Amino acid sequence: MNNTKELLARVNLKYTKQREIILDALRDLKVPVTVEKLDDYCRQHQHPINLSTIYRTIDSLSQVNLIHKTYNSITQTTMIELVAPTHKHYLVCVECHKMIPIKMCPMHSILDSIESDYDFVVASHQLEISGLCSACAKKKSLVTEK
Ligand SMILES: [Zn+2]
Ligand SMILES: [Zn+2]
Repeated sequence: MNNTKELLARVNLKYTKQREIILDALRDLKVPVTVEKLDDYCRQHQHPINLSTIYRTIDSLSQVNLIHKTYNSITQTTMIELVAPTHKHYLVCVECHKMIPIKMCPMHSILDSIESDYDFVVASHQLEISGLCSACAKKKSLVTEK
């Protein structure tokens, strides 16, 4: 879905330039970001929006489920992301806090057996995989070698 006006109309939200800018930014950024990062991104792309408007826009877009707020327990910040048609999981680097999306959901086969073993219908799941990205792992190994 690329037409932001159509997307907003579908959820009965009035089109505003700010809403379009935020949705476009999240679409470009592809990974969950902090509000600060979103603010930086808008400035860098010549679309500065004041912070209180960003917060208000995030609230209205998340109320209609176009964007999603998640809490990152490693960085202890709220992360904003576009609601993707298919869900995503991320590898989170504990050093630089980079988030790397993984291509598949490793939970699906596990959830299938949970549903049959426990007679339970799974509605949603979260998965957090933390560790070191290749750049940080390299840096660490250089430090320990000395
Ligand atoms: Zn890293
Ligand atoms: Zn999954």
